[in-house]
Amino acid sequence: MTMSTNPLVEGESDGLEQTALDLASLGIVAALKKEHAGPNLPEMKPKSPAPVREHGPARVIALCNQKGGVGKTTTTINLGAALAEAGRRVLLLDFDPQGALSVGLGVSPYELDLTVYNLLMQKGVTIEDVLVKTNVTGLHLLPSNIDLSAAEVQLVNEVAREQTLQRALRSVMDYYDYILIDCQPSLGLLTVNALTCAHGVIVPLECEFFSLRGLAMLIDTIEKVRDRLNPDLELEGILATMYDARTVHARQVLSRVVEAFGDKVYDTVISRTVKFPETTVAGEPITTWAPGSGGAKAYRALAREVLAR
Ligand code: ADP
Ligand code: MG
Repeated sequence: MTMSTNPLVEGESDGLEQTALDLASLGIVAALKKEHAGPNLPEMKPKSPAPVREHGPARVIALCNQKGGVGKTTTTINLGAALAEAGRRVLLLDFDPQGALSVGLGVSPYELDLTVYNLLMQKGVTIEDVLVKTNVTGLHLLPSNIDLSAAEVQLVNEVAREQTLQRALRSVMDYYDYILIDCQPSLGLLTVNALTCAHGVIVPLECEFFSLRGLAMLIDTIEKVRDRLNPDLELEGILATMYDARTVHARQVLSRVVEAFGDKVYDTVISRTVKFPETTVAGEPITTWAPGSGGAKAYRALAREVLAR
């Protein structure tokens, strides 16, 4: 494996923040894809993202994994911020009653009068009533708090309960380029709502063996939703998170995932770094809090892959 061949990070100098750990993860997925595909894999050139000419209609992406603590919220915030930095209009939707997405963007969820809960359950509440602007230009947030846990129960009695979120978002589909939904760690009715209105699913995956078991169940749920509710739903991509290049274990897990999912695995790998927990305290994305860090560069590289797909 060569260390500096990841074409997605071209043109960026390795600043002082670029740790040995980040360097070691560059190009690893590309190398594994070659390994598993044999010698005849055609050279893959990432397309450069199309320039922004006009906005919308939105591509809706659910960040989903029923396991907690795998980087769903961190990826929603930082992929969203990186897409906004690239000139896209981005809406982030907090779909976890824990409200971590809202907290991570500096919003205190318990001081809110109106949240996603009201948007889903109350007639007359509009997206504009709930929407919060963030410190990043082009990045908007629909916040949530513990109220949302009641929606999971109350929705059961609704007509077309799985399409509730889809109906709520309809009015802004033409305005945004991307809507990212930060799902809660379960495959319950809220997550099914997210999958029903999504075009794609990004699965953040912690590089450890237990993650692989949960992945099969998640793929099964995605297939069920595709069959019964949303024929357009695609697995957008699998993102390796909390990667520690020093352990053989992490590399083995990544190798298994690439073997099973091939090109669905993003070339970008997110390394484990304390910078991410720190950004939660700061209440802003890593792309603005530590713009030159390896973590910020990684999420920009992911944004380029998402734009190119
Ligand atoms: P989820 O939304 O899947 O529960 P989070 O994004 O909230 O996961 O991440 C769980 C915890 O791990 C948070 O404290 C977060 O700051 C931290 N974290 C996320 N990504 C990384 C990373 N690449 N390296 C180190 N810590 C991370
Ligand atoms: Mg979360």
